[in-house]
This record gives sequence, C-alpha cells and structure tokens, in this order.
Amino acid sequence: MVGCTAVAPIAALREEPAPESCAVEDERPLDAVQVSEIAVAAAWHADDTEAPRGCRATLAARGVRFDDASPSPTIVDPIKVAPLLGDVTFRHVHDPKPRWLWVDCRFALRLHAATDLLRARGVREVLHVGTYEPKCVGGGTPESRPGCTPSAHALGMAIDVVSLVTAHDDFVFERDFVKRGDATPTCETPRRGARDTFLKELVCALDGTFNVLLTPNWDDRHKTHVHLALHPTAKAWWANGVDPQLAPE
Ligand SMILES: [Zn+2]
Repeated sequence: MVGCTAVAPIAALREEPAPESCAVEDERPLDAVQVSEIAVAAAWHADDTEAPRGCRATLAARGVRFDDASPSPTIVDPIKVAPLLGDVTFRHVHDPKPRWLWVDCRFALRLHAATDLLRARGVREVLHVGTYEPKCVGGGTPESRPGCTPSAHALGMAIDVVSLVTAHDDFVFERDFVKRGDATPTCETPRRGARDTFLKELVCALDGTFNVLLTPNWDDRHKTHVHLALHPTAKAWWANGVDPQLAPE
C-alpha cells in the first residue's frame, strides 16, 4: 500500500518552528464544563473502539499513500501520510517542499475527504503550520506535564491551515479573511468581497468533515489560520455557531 522506508523520528518533522501564534496555543483557563469534556476525551482516547486496521484499509482503498509513524503516547493510530492527498498538495508554509503529514489514521480519512471540497473550488495546494504537535490543553507538553490532557494536535487530529492556493491565486487567512470582531459565528457573518467569500464559504463547506473549525473570528490566537480538527467530544461547530467554550482545541 505504500512502499515507504524507515520512519523518521517525530522531532525531524519540525525543523522549522511554527509561527508563535500557532506553536504556542496557550489555553484560556478551563471552566467546569471544559474540565468535564476533557475527562471524557481522555476516556475516549483510552477506550477507542474504532479498529485502526479498518481505518488503514479504508485509506488504502482510497488510494492514499501512507506508512507507520513512530509510536506516540497521545495518538491512537499514528501514521504518516504522503503530502499529495486527493490531488491536493499539503505543505508546511516554512518548508520549501511538501513532507509527510503526521496524523492519526482517522484524521487522514477526513483530510482525504476534505480534498474533494478543496478541488471542487480549484484549490491545488494547502499551506499549513502544523498537524501533530505534542501539546497539552492548558499549556506545556506531555513530556513536561506527564498525565496532562492532550490537545487535538497532540491526538494527531488537527491541522492549522494558513492559506489556499489555486491555479491563479492564493487566499491567505491572515490577509483575506475579514474578521467581524464580535461573537457572531463565521458562517452567519456577511461576506466582504470575493477573497473573504472564498475563504468563508470553504470553511463552512468543511463543517461536518471536521467537527471543530476555529477561524480568525474566534480569538487572537487564530488570527493567522483556521484550526480544523476532529475532536472526540466537540458537540457542535464554532464556524456554525457553537459556544466556543464547547469547542476544545
Ligand atoms: Zn490548531
């Protein structure tokens, strides 16, 4: 299914530091609801019932090229996925060439599904600032805070997208996404011109493929990107109007 060779250590993935706003996503203080959600997330992670083998067979059947990734204490089924996925290239914005995407197998399925929507809008390349990051909810890393609750990035279930490239143009979240400056959900805000419309329509189309979509509207930490995640306990989608307190990282 893949024909790949040795698995590189996770550390080799991050030769370039991500922009500060993405590399260090300090969490706001947790309220009781969040803490309870996180407890559920931890249980879900431990008792995951989706068969990883079934996920991998599905990926292979869809023609996705992947291989085993280094074991991770926070990823249920760690794999590395070739960065050409469904004819869309995924490249770290600081990397001159595309590299493997390190994710959980189930997130790879969602990324592959997303490429149908991306291609339909003419997107050929997705520039991002990271998928797997060993971060804890509340700050720190599993290494510095043993037993912490992993973020969606640490679960291998998230990607931070900074821009989308078509044959003739590029659409940059920090530059082109018009922030409203209040709590109105992204998908309910008026569009402001073609570039803002393109980005907002695409994010809203991806709602459902991912279940947490945090746009630059959400808070200052996301002013440069959209955070697309498959979170085990998210109850709704911020882009379409979830209480942001229920949209965990
Ligand atoms: Zn993120």
